[in-house]
Amino acid sequence: MSRVSKVDLHVHLEGTITPAMVVRLAARNKIVVPDDLMKDGHFNWRADGAAAGNLMAFLRAYDHATSVMKCAADYTDITYDYLKRSADEGCIYAEITISADHGAMAGLAYPEMLAAIAAGYEKAREETGIEARLISTCVRHFGPEGALKVGKLTRDHPHPLVTAFGMAGDENAYTAADFKPAFDISGLPHRTAHAGEAAGPASIRAARDVLKVRRFGHMVRASEDTTLMEELKAINAVPEVCVSSNIALRVYKDYAAHPLRRSFDYGLKVTLGSDDPTFFSTSIGREYRIAQEQFGFSDKELRQISRNAVEEAFVDEKARARLLAAV
Ligand SMILES: [Zn+2]
Repeated sequence: MSRVSKVDLHVHLEGTITPAMVVRLAARNKIVVPDDLMKDGHFNWRADGAAAGNLMAFLRAYDHATSVMKCAADYTDITYDYLKRSADEGCIYAEITISADHGAMAGLAYPEMLAAIAAGYEKAREETGIEARLISTCVRHFGPEGALKVGKLTRDHPHPLVTAFGMAGDENAYTAADFKPAFDISGLPHRTAHAGEAAGPASIRAARDVLKVRRFGHMVRASEDTTLMEELKAINAVPEVCVSSNIALRVYKDYAAHPLRRSFDYGLKVTLGSDDPTFFSTSIGREYRIAQEQFGFSDKELRQISRNAVEEAFVDEKARARLLAAV
């Protein structure tokens, strides 16, 4: 394991639940999950069919696994568990995507969910020193009305750990403009949106021009358009790159096809993320290791990736200075 301090800028809280935690919470909340959901300590969802079938299989497993989350204690435990594991791998900062919609599915109001996540974070921080912030995120395929609701909740219940508004979910649903009101009403100064993963350059342009984001979830498919690459470099755009996720979901067929190295060498401000780590059998430590072993990144280059992430983290300048010193 590289001793470089790691930063995870792209990770969905529900996507960090481990198979062991699913078993524990299923027992605690008396929920039955399908027998074949897990195998040999991993989530067992990978289909051998087409990419679309693969994505559906992943989403089905995701829904089954997260269906065990039913109360505030579950959110606290999952947050603590993820941050503790990450800190043990040398992660000093994580920016966690949280979803009021998923909280509601677990029966929690947004402020209750926030308090539970904050409790898990405080415990992990006291034990390990890891820092974290939260990105309140709407789910694109739940539609503009749902997104607006999340934007309003975010505005109505400000929390010191929630420093940004984001958008996840199916990039091909609706148009970016449909979600501008949600971003605007959230009242938060920072924004990120998934773009350039399931859809191509047009999706990145829309997120940039309409939603005014400069930091993008994934953005890897910018590499399909040289003009766009130039434009993104000119505005110092920040891709949150999640290699294992991209390969598991067949955005790229293998490491050789993945644009991580090319994007970095081109001069984009590359950062790394674990996305839904336990579903892709990965972690932020493993993502740094893959960058080193599969893409030839030196420790110095990995440190540059961590520095990029801290420079673009959604934190105040005092926290940024503290994190930069740690990198
Ligand atoms: Zn994501």
